[in-house]
Amino acid sequence: MHSKTILQAKEDLRQKKYSAVELTEAVYQRIDSVEPKVQAFVHLTRDIALKQAQTADQKLAAGEDAPLLGIPIALKDLICTQGTRTTCSSQILDQFVAPYDATVAGQLKSAGAVIVGKTNMDEFAMGSSTENAWHHPTMNPWNLERVPGGSSGGSAAAVSAHECLAALGSDTGGSIRQPANFCGVTGLKPTYGRVSRFGLVAFASSLDQIGPMTKTVADSALLMNVIGGKDPRDSTSADVARPDFMKALERDVSGLRMGIPKEYFTSGIDPEVERSVQEGIKTLESLGMKKVEVSLPHLQYAVATYYIIACAEASTNLSRYDGVKYGHRSQKTDNLLEMYMNTREEGFGEEVKRRIMLGTFVLSSGYYDAYYLKGQKVRTLIKQDFENAFEHCDVIVAPNAPVTAFKQKERIDDPLKMYLSDIYTISANLAGIPGISIPAGISRTDGMPVGLQLMSKHFDEESLIAVGHRFQQNTDHHLQQPSL
Ligand code: GLN
Repeated sequence: MHSKTILQAKEDLRQKKYSAVELTEAVYQRIDSVEPKVQAFVHLTRDIALKQAQTADQKLAAGEDAPLLGIPIALKDLICTQGTRTTCSSQILDQFVAPYDATVAGQLKSAGAVIVGKTNMDEFAMGSSTENAWHHPTMNPWNLERVPGGSSGGSAAAVSAHECLAALGSDTGGSIRQPANFCGVTGLKPTYGRVSRFGLVAFASSLDQIGPMTKTVADSALLMNVIGGKDPRDSTSADVARPDFMKALERDVSGLRMGIPKEYFTSGIDPEVERSVQEGIKTLESLGMKKVEVSLPHLQYAVATYYIIACAEASTNLSRYDGVKYGHRSQKTDNLLEMYMNTREEGFGEEVKRRIMLGTFVLSSGYYDAYYLKGQKVRTLIKQDFENAFEHCDVIVAPNAPVTAFKQKERIDDPLKMYLSDIYTISANLAGIPGISIPAGISRTDGMPVGLQLMSKHFDEESLIAVGHRFQQNTDHHLQQPSL
């Protein structure tokens, strides 16, 4: 039961092959057996989940229908859930219980979902390996010595290890797509503004976006039908009508033009990653898509631009953690200023401190023009690169990451090397466009999954869903399982 997709389980529940309680219990049995190895969760909400499953069974028996009735789903631990902890994998928020549900959490609950627990992540979503986590790191289910990617590594590992049917993650610079890629699952970062950020603990507000992490593209389409749309509580959520994303699954993709950005295939890409991506491109050609070369000339500046803008926004967003309003408060002193300083010194991890300092630096007078303002200008150039490219193509096809999942501890002491893991994903966030990672093969060198990234124009997730679904109907990469 635990290895079903959402759509399969929905059908099985409707046909009464098993109940929502049985499905939820099967998921927790799976968690009990693999979680000691994988450690995908920060905490589980078993009692609440079983009650939600009972309610779902009552509704199913009464003939009620809702898009996710009885479906066990996990949430990244930066999505606020009323009554249960939301820690962001940080010591500073370790005991924080939000007084309200994030809009997406409320939407899932209203759609009948069973919330299994909160998944591990890099602290405040800053990282690419889920090693910057206060409680414990998460392991890649395909090889426990390797990282699951990050920052939504817990969500990716939980889906890959069948500890839930699907999960939500968040993506500021690749945090849905890169871990999906590393763990062999499907991860969709929607257009900036498509999904409400209300109740998402902020990292970099102009880049953050919540999205689905699933076993198939079809399941992502279903989740987008639940979480997409304008939210009056988030002024940056866009007033754009939500299409029926499930309809995109029926679309024909032949004749669509796929743009191959030449800058993504330069030195530094693992040959096995390149091989799988090129085979993926051939598969798309066999489905009638036409290949065109496009250029994104400012790609080389994306990592630098991102780390200026993201750190600047993080330094202001994280100023709220002062020991007064939320979470941890240092007990070391009764002097106010020292209390602030000790709280932040004790509560934040190394990487978060590094980003706060970088962000404060680039925003400080004398450096603002040289770094922050310039970063914003380059961001505009990157956005224009995509606009130019989309004059010649409907979707862009590229790798998600230059390498497969790397070993635990391999990059943790080298922040620059870690930052470079995101080179292929960051520009979609800077431009605000949607992107999806879908499994595209297994590396012959290390046996780890490789993904294909598709990107499209603002608010055109439907093209990603159409192409991704056709790809999955014609390949079996997404059906490969880790042996665990
Ligand atoms: N890995 C990138 C970073 O460290 C992106 C993280 C994210 O998307 N939240 O900032």
